[in-house]
Amino acid sequence: MRASNLFFPTLREVPADAQMASHRLLLRGGFIRNVAAGIYDYLPLGYKVIKKIERIVRQEMDAQGAQELLMPAMVPAELYQEGGRWDLDVIFKFRDRNARDYAIGFTHEEVITDIVRRDVRSYRELPLNLYQIQTKGRDEPRPRGGVVRGREFIMLDSYSFDRNWDDLDRAYDKMYVAFSRIFARCGLDAAVVEADSGAIGGKDSQEYMAITDAGEDTVLICESCGYGANAEKCEIGIRPIKKSSEELAALELVDTPNARTIEQVTSFLKKSPKKLVKTLIYLADGEVVAALVRGDREVNEPKLRNALGAKSVELADSETIMNVTGADVGFAGPVGLKGVKIVADREVEGMANFVVGGNKTDAHYVNANLCRDFEVGQFADIRVASKGDACPRCDGTLKAERGMEIGHIFKLGTRYSDAMGAKFLDDDGKEKPFIMGCYGAGVSRMLAAIPEVHNDKDGIIWPISVAPFEVTVILLNSDDEAQCNAATRLYEELQAGGVDVLLDERDERPGVKFKDADLMGTPIQVVAGRLASEGKVEVRLRSDKSKEEITLDEATAHILQLRKALYQGLEDKAQSAAKRA
Ligand SMILES: [Zn+2]
Repeated sequence: MRASNLFFPTLREVPADAQMASHRLLLRGGFIRNVAAGIYDYLPLGYKVIKKIERIVRQEMDAQGAQELLMPAMVPAELYQEGGRWDLDVIFKFRDRNARDYAIGFTHEEVITDIVRRDVRSYRELPLNLYQIQTKGRDEPRPRGGVVRGREFIMLDSYSFDRNWDDLDRAYDKMYVAFSRIFARCGLDAAVVEADSGAIGGKDSQEYMAITDAGEDTVLICESCGYGANAEKCEIGIRPIKKSSEELAALELVDTPNARTIEQVTSFLKKSPKKLVKTLIYLADGEVVAALVRGDREVNEPKLRNALGAKSVELADSETIMNVTGADVGFAGPVGLKGVKIVADREVEGMANFVVGGNKTDAHYVNANLCRDFEVGQFADIRVASKGDACPRCDGTLKAERGMEIGHIFKLGTRYSDAMGAKFLDDDGKEKPFIMGCYGAGVSRMLAAIPEVHNDKDGIIWPISVAPFEVTVILLNSDDEAQCNAATRLYEELQAGGVDVLLDERDERPGVKFKDADLMGTPIQVVAGRLASEGKVEVRLRSDKSKEEITLDEATAHILQLRKALYQGLEDKAQSAAKRA
């Protein structure tokens, strides 16, 4: 490709609402343009990156025996109704001329289950793993970060069907390898963390997280053993409780007018939130329960639900709180609370002389103490894990990072096959529901995640595997015959060597060409400049800005070698990522 023919409208001014580095750089470099909230054009450079990501996805999925198909983007309402997801508020819905309801597909569990229940009869046809790469729609309340969270996006979604759970484990492990290799080959060093299965349902699930300050999720990672989990899911290790050595002070009810939030109470009483215990009133399967955590902690509802062995927990409404505590919301406390089970986070067991709500509007107790002032029915891990908490797998400590989710793999089980009556005949002659897994990766999100991790002040530093061009040959002065000849020769030799190369022969100042090559993020840049008259060119690496002079005769072989080494570096990372299972 010649730069004079290439459509890459660069921007000098980037819209102020583009806050993430990747969003700014993708706009500046002419990779994407905004059409509407969360909806983007992929311009030629951006679409080249997408296609290279997709190629890697296909290679790795095919290598694990998955087969590509393409399901419709338009999904009839009946299928989502069968799966029980038609009422999700993120679905784009529309009607045809006959008033039939449809949705733009957002994930395709129901559609694929429908395919398999129609056409797979016997255990002999299993295992089966089918995937697609497709444009999807999700009516996100808050699209953000350019293509990070779009309302239209390109996704890999894969679905496995097995006879039993052991086979599902094997299918899942294969997808673990495929996904680990896909992200590593795209230059993303993804952390794999345990995740909550959330609305999709199912058993185990793991998220692939690109670690970046721009990520919107908190992940906790153990520096000693590598255990990682999403903050919503993360367990906290059990350690012996260190009892406070403070002398117990007298319990006192004090006026705290209008102080209901932790911030208001701590600033009014001039105490650290670590000296507060907050009391949240929940309904667990309809029963009132008080949950206690330290003032600076948050209750983790799935953990609370598990600790209570309840099917559901939800915060109580203000009327229930008034009935139970005799006070407005914000003043609940464990002292004198009658007929309510009290569950406390384990950390509370070590505390002394703390502040709790007074069960009276505008009042709190200070110097409350366990046993003396109230009884706790159960101590359990019920809080959201945070930095410094104990690792649940080893003696280590958890550190907190920001992560951007780029992939998510699930053991679904029979969630959809049961709901949709998808069964096969097993070798014992019995009909059984398919055991399913589903595996998703954000292809268009990777177009943002990669530059979010790989950039500098001059632009994007693409890993060679997904760079719009592997090499840019910069012809500095197109009026100079030696420079022209050198550039043309290299361009042709590199093309013949199978290199994806751009020749920048535009009638532009050298500074513009250097800037554009950096902004575009081409990993290897070759400059045909003044040295061309001596039979030499300069080879530059985008990653470390290193430069070396090399003779024109040796240049092509040298560049091919450099390119090979860059690919090998990514392959090495892919192999070690796949081993971390
Ligand atoms: Zn650990």
